[in-house]
Amino acid sequence: MIHAVSVNKWYGSTQVLKECTFSVQKGEVVVVCGPSGSGKSTLIRCLNGLEEFQSGKISVLEVELSARKQRHLPALRRRVGMVFQQFELFPHLTALQNICLGQQIVLHRSRTDAETRARSLLARVGLTEAADRLPSRLSGGQQQRVAIARSLAMDPEVMLFDEPTSALDPEMINEVLDVMVGLAKEGMTMVVVTHEMAFARRVSNRVMFMDAGRIVEDRAGADFFQKPESTRAKAFLESIISH
Ligand code: ADP
Ligand code: MG
Repeated sequence: MIHAVSVNKWYGSTQVLKECTFSVQKGEVVVVCGPSGSGKSTLIRCLNGLEEFQSGKISVLEVELSARKQRHLPALRRRVGMVFQQFELFPHLTALQNICLGQQIVLHRSRTDAETRARSLLARVGLTEAADRLPSRLSGGQQQRVAIARSLAMDPEVMLFDEPTSALDPEMINEVLDVMVGLAKEGMTMVVVTHEMAFARRVSNRVMFMDAGRIVEDRAGADFFQKPESTRAKAFLESIISH
C-alpha cells in the first residue's frame, strides 16, 4: 500500500530525511519511533502529501507522489486518514458535527447518512453520550477519540497517526490506544508514530527506528525490542524504559 524509495528532504540546507526506503503491506501495523527531531513527523506527513520532498519516490495506494501531480492529492488524502497529536477538531462544532463535516463536503453524503455513520462511529469509540458536546467540553482522550472517529468516517484505506497520545494525561492514554488496538485487529493498515512501546509490542508487525533523518532499523517488533541492532536504538529503548 505504501512504497517509499530513497526519499530525501531538506528544509533549507538542513537534510531532515535521508535515503528513506520502506514499504507497508495491506493490513500491516508499522510503528515509527526515534528521538525527537529524527524526522518521524516529516516522514509520515510526506505519505499523504502534506510535505513535499526533493528526491526519491513515494507511492501510496498506487498514487505516485514524486510526480507532484497535485490534482491527485485531494483524492489521496481522503483515502489516507491522519490523526495528529493535537486532535485538530473544529472548536465551534460539536463532536457529531466534526464527524459529519468531511462526509458531507468531501464525500457528498446526505446529512442523515453522515449522522448515522457519525453516531455509529461515536458508539465504536465509546462516546455515544458526547455527540452534542463541543470539544472544549471533552477531555483530551475524548477529543482524540472523536478525531479518530472523524478520520474513520471517510472510510480511509490507510491510517497515519502522529504521536496520538503524546498530548494526553497518562490516565487517558489507554482509552485512545484501545481504539487503535481495535482498528489494528480489524485489519486496518496503520503507520503509527508513537513511543508507547507496550502498544508497539502488542500490535505492530514492524518497528522502524529513525535517527537523524535515517531509518536505522526496520524489523519485526519482537526482534527490535529483544535485540536492537544499533547502539542508538539500544540507548533510545533504555531511555524510554527508564521513564
Ligand atoms: P520528529 O517528528 O521525529 O520529532 P520532525 O519530523 O518534526 O521530527 O523534524 C525533523 C527535523 O526537521 C527537525 O530537525 C526539525 O527541527 C526540522 N523541521 C521540522 N519542520 C520544519 C520546518 N517547517 N522548517 C524547518 N525545519 C523543520
Ligand atoms: Mg514529531
